[in-house]
Amino acid sequence: MHLPKLHGAHVPHRKNTAGMRPERMPTPKMVSIPMSMHIGAPAEPLVKPGDQVKVGQLIAKAGGFVSSPVHASVSGKVKRIDDVLSGMGRFMKAIVIEADPEQETLEGLAPPVVTDYQSFVDAVRESGVVGLGGAGFPTAVKLSVKDLSKVEAVIINGAECEPYVTSDTRTMLDDGDLIFEGIELLKKYMQVKRVVIGIEKNKPQCVAEMQSRAAKTQGVEVMALPALYPQGGEKVLIYNTIGRVVPEGKLPLDAGAIVLNCTTLAAIARYIKTGMPLVEKVVTVDGSAVREPKNVIAPIGTPVSDLFEFCGGFKSEPKKVLYGGPMMGIAMPDLSCPVMKNTNAVLAFDERDATLPEPTACIRCGSCVDACPLNLMPTEIESAYEKRDVERLKKLKANLCMECGCCAYACPAKRMLVQTNKLAKGLLAADAAAKRAEAERKEKEKARKEAAK
Ligand code: SF4
Ligand code: SF4
Repeated sequence: MHLPKLHGAHVPHRKNTAGMRPERMPTPKMVSIPMSMHIGAPAEPLVKPGDQVKVGQLIAKAGGFVSSPVHASVSGKVKRIDDVLSGMGRFMKAIVIEADPEQETLEGLAPPVVTDYQSFVDAVRESGVVGLGGAGFPTAVKLSVKDLSKVEAVIINGAECEPYVTSDTRTMLDDGDLIFEGIELLKKYMQVKRVVIGIEKNKPQCVAEMQSRAAKTQGVEVMALPALYPQGGEKVLIYNTIGRVVPEGKLPLDAGAIVLNCTTLAAIARYIKTGMPLVEKVVTVDGSAVREPKNVIAPIGTPVSDLFEFCGGFKSEPKKVLYGGPMMGIAMPDLSCPVMKNTNAVLAFDERDATLPEPTACIRCGSCVDACPLNLMPTEIESAYEKRDVERLKKLKANLCMECGCCAYACPAKRMLVQTNKLAKGLLAADAAAKRAEAERKEKEKARKEAAK
């Protein structure tokens, strides 16, 4: 069993935009709304080129149980359904809408009728809300619990431990009413008895805001946690708030917990209150290359180039642009990449910040092992990966790595440990797929021989 300890990294926080209320940007000329902004099956388009759509209109249905519907973030004309470049460097299907000047909201949008647990989960599904902290897991699936008595605590994630990113901070400061309306919904429809809001101590205003609301609400605790990255990691947060360990290969529910990001919960409450599904995001725009860092309210599908333009453009040529924070963010291949449901930040860095030091030989100092919040052994994983030693990688539990980056941050030799861990996980996945294919082939061969007898 892997006990998460208070390991991690003391990263600089650089929350430059924490005091900045989100500003609504002008409607972009064009949005490209991807069908894969969540974990699971892509959404399936319900519109075709030439169709007129309005803000909040359902434009793609969920492609399966683990999926999420998608709604128009602007009113206008569907220009095409195309493959667009995603932040992952892959092409994915997207509905491209040319915005009109009217920006009309769909007529008849009304709060959903919620009367019991099932209609609550259905409403969450219809809202299009997915894990907005970055994970993108469909929230309705997370809340679909067979036995509600297993939910001992819901943990609201307000830790927002990545440097620069302040969109959750703003939710706690500006939309505390929605967070607490969401908590009341969980209590009413899921019979949740214990709610814990976990916030890093370096956000004293958020702690105070949530504490003052919690004092008037039964069954809600606010925990001010050490500012140690990755405090917001799901398993780390569960351990540091309710002291439970998620068993290896299991889900938080197996430890009696559901973890919801605070912005996710606010988005659910907003939908149930107004009927407006998830069509826009607060995105932190920052980094050393950005002229005027801001928190920006952007329609989903907005090209990130428009966000930077709204923030005064670049003061120096950006050499690296990230979706998300510097620890776990993904480098963007192109500024035309769209804002997605789970985009909480776009960061642009100048040459000095974007240049990675050359890795040198491992000096066996153990700093990476010491930093890992899951007690993994990154240096050993690296060595096993270099030898393509699948069995050793399994023993080292490389698959548990949450790619938080603490090991690489701590490494004095600047080894590319996270990248290696990702490759090691890919090797394990390929090995498992090959074994499954071989087992299926054998099964078919056996059946063929039986039939020939
Ligand atoms: S990236 Fe993986 S191995 Fe490295 S510290 Fe994080 S969890 Fe541990
Ligand atoms: S921190 Fe870097 S140098 Fe130290 S043991 Fe780990 S990989 Fe080697």
